[in-house]
Amino acid sequence: MPILLVFALIAACLPVEWPQPPFAPERETAFALTVGAVTLVLALALALRTWVIRTLRRDPTRRYEVARAYNWWRRALFFVNIGMVAACVLVFGWGWLAQRELLIFWNKSAQLAPFAELAVPLPYFVVLVGCWLIYYDAERALYRVLHLGDRPYWSRSSYLLHNSRQFALMVMLPVALIVTQQTLNRYAPETTRTVVYKVVSLAVVPCMILFMPLVMKPLLGLKSMPAGPTRDRFEALARRLDFRCSDFLVWNTHGASVNAFITGLLPRVRYVVFTDRILDDLPPEELDAVFGHEVGHAKHGHIWLYAGFLTLSLSVLAALVLFLAKYIDAATSDDMVRLRTWLEGFKTWLALPPVALVTAYLFVVFGALSRRCERQADLFGSKTMSCADPCCTGHDAKTVYPPGGECLCPTGLRTFARALDRVRELNGMDHDSGGRPLRRVLRSVWGWLRAWQHGPMSRRISYLLDVHNRLADEPRFQKRLFVFKCALMLMLLVALLALGEAVGWKDLFDAL
Ligand SMILES: [Zn+2]
Ligand SMILES: [Zn+2]
Repeated sequence: MPILLVFALIAACLPVEWPQPPFAPERETAFALTVGAVTLVLALALALRTWVIRTLRRDPTRRYEVARAYNWWRRALFFVNIGMVAACVLVFGWGWLAQRELLIFWNKSAQLAPFAELAVPLPYFVVLVGCWLIYYDAERALYRVLHLGDRPYWSRSSYLLHNSRQFALMVMLPVALIVTQQTLNRYAPETTRTVVYKVVSLAVVPCMILFMPLVMKPLLGLKSMPAGPTRDRFEALARRLDFRCSDFLVWNTHGASVNAFITGLLPRVRYVVFTDRILDDLPPEELDAVFGHEVGHAKHGHIWLYAGFLTLSLSVLAALVLFLAKYIDAATSDDMVRLRTWLEGFKTWLALPPVALVTAYLFVVFGALSRRCERQADLFGSKTMSCADPCCTGHDAKTVYPPGGECLCPTGLRTFARALDRVRELNGMDHDSGGRPLRRVLRSVWGWLRAWQHGPMSRRISYLLDVHNRLADEPRFQKRLFVFKCALMLMLLVALLALGEAVGWKDLFDAL
């Protein structure tokens, strides 16, 4: 759940006056309670690791049960870790201690040292690295019993490097941007008020999306796909679909991940990335279908759509927060004055609700958009493997695939559904059925939360099988999705225009 983590870390780095610890002596209490909390969650991780290793040593036949239990507990402990660190910052006084101890003198006043806000979520970073070190042994033990005869498991240092690279890209990059901005606000306030600075900081998000592929390649250690039959097939397929990208990349995860993705807005800085395991474990026609899915994202303009949607949405949310603040400030009725006095009691805490608003908005609205686009890409992946005969019963070496991926046939749909099913199986994702009712409900809630961007695999597969039985549904879906996208963007644009007029464009520009 990187998104939850990103916003939790951003919230921790905001200039909120975190509360003091519950009792004196404050410094010692805050330190002792935080160290205690970190030790406790690390002890839980250690207990899980020891249980996995001992159980597998005693009875290797329980490997599937152990793998399931391990996955469940690791997920649960992820939330326990976040909760515990939140308690350190909010209740045990860690946030207060970090802000107090890291002051320096600057321009005759005490200021928080540059980037010192990162010390507030420091307990989380300690827990995270500690967990990587602890879980390594459990994952290696599981790998050995689940993948008999496969390649050897990676070393502890490359496992650490792999996890830190992913964490740096997905979580720390946005957090670092916010922290840099806050540091500039403290140490170069005149610069941050200039128009040039405003324009540059507004351009950071689109530039990041544009140049992300160039950052991603060295950061994740991605390598160009070597020449060979797979690369030849992808190149031929790209020609047939009239798709351009600068390279096909391989992500070496030592078999840990079965995945593929596309990154980059423009063909010149666009990569299609495959993990080692998906290249090894998927049969050629299913791999082609997965490649087709990624091409579908580019063909349907999803990356541009996401960039536009995010830029518009963040501007609208900023305008909305500004509008509410101005409205409450200007109001004269008794109720509003009472509300204002009540809110003033929270002072610096008011930095937090906008972060929660953005998180919830992305989760709900971007989630809804993204799940629909994934479905559209699934259909494009099926079209990639389709012939021109809507009643076909199977393909062979003589089958002709029309250029551009414009036809949809039952065999193409079945191929893509099979690819999804295999990816689900290889990733060890749960099927929805079985278990007691409460467990089933919890599992499907978790499934939705985890799959907020893509939708649960079982849903995606059953949708493709529905279309397989009624091919006429596909054009209707495309039309409905087109209307949905237009309506969404139009609504955002209207909201931005209305709010911009209401709060004044200059104020909005300053607030961004
Ligand atoms: Zn996708
Ligand atoms: Zn066909």
